[in-house]
Amino acid sequence: MTGTPVKKHEKIMPPSPPLTIKDRERGCSYSRVGFLGEGGFARVYEVQDQRATRRAVKVVNKASIKTKKNKTKLWAEIKLHQMLTHPHIVRFDDCFEDDENVYMVLELCDNGSLMDCLRRRKRFTEPEARFFLVQLIAACQYMHQMNVIHRDLKLGNLFLDANMGVKVGDLGLAALIEKPGDRKKTICGTPNYIAPEVLFDTANGHSFEVDVWSVGVILYTLLIGKPPFQTKDVKAIYKRIRENRYEFPAEKQISQSAQELIMSILNTDPDKRPTLEAILSHKWFFDGPFPSYIPPSANDFAPDFS
Ligand code: ADP
Repeated sequence: MTGTPVKKHEKIMPPSPPLTIKDRERGCSYSRVGFLGEGGFARVYEVQDQRATRRAVKVVNKASIKTKKNKTKLWAEIKLHQMLTHPHIVRFDDCFEDDENVYMVLELCDNGSLMDCLRRRKRFTEPEARFFLVQLIAACQYMHQMNVIHRDLKLGNLFLDANMGVKVGDLGLAALIEKPGDRKKTICGTPNYIAPEVLFDTANGHSFEVDVWSVGVILYTLLIGKPPFQTKDVKAIYKRIRENRYEFPAEKQISQSAQELIMSILNTDPDKRPTLEAILSHKWFFDGPFPSYIPPSANDFAPDFS
């Protein structure tokens, strides 16, 4: 035997995609110019098309999606993402495959994810949170009108374009509600952001209100710097979600109206949560500065809106 032995749990990295990625059907090509990040199944690269327009390409190695279940999931993500065109959803430009990979050509979000930004900033100001939330809710309203539930709204799936505008991405867990009143029963999401009915009302299932819950978790996280139910292990997170146990640390000095809005959204009963429209008309949005623009310097420092 030659070469380095692979340890039992070590992730086997698929070969890098070609430097020139070709969509043979459309006769266009993309030059790979950088690496942006990696997720569960995919690696994401920055590319330039033939007109030197920069884009992101999400590459899924076919060897990593051998099971029928994984293939179905990927095609569902592509189908749903392709359906959606909205200023606050990552634009889906093209999709093709070669022998090794499936490629999704996406709008490039220059300023990375809100999660990366939060790591640098620690927390955001209330005016910034208003700016981000209005855009996130607009994207959610549109998805819900299109009968799509995102089901994995979290800071890591909210990307920022060159103007610090929010773009919702990663439709990997999204579901289409095909008949009015249909409910979904698959337990999915990310522990810190998952709505209680997904975990504890599996018989009845869940619907659009799970995204509203995640909007509440996102708002809390933007203002406090960590998710409300965060704790050392997943079981303990679920226990806290079930008990609706979270607090607003006094030293963080969150406004009363922000606290009220978050508490109203994080209602364990999905039917008692506010609608997206009701959230937008909450007094918190009118309780202080509402910036029309966030400077890219906000990636590192709190802007002064006074
Ligand atoms: P995950 O599987 O972690 O939910 P993705 O597979 O969608 O996320 O993306 C992995 C990483 O690639 C992201 O965390 C981000 O850093 C980067 N990325 C994804 N999409 C884009 C994009 N459109 N523009 C810029 N960076 C992106």
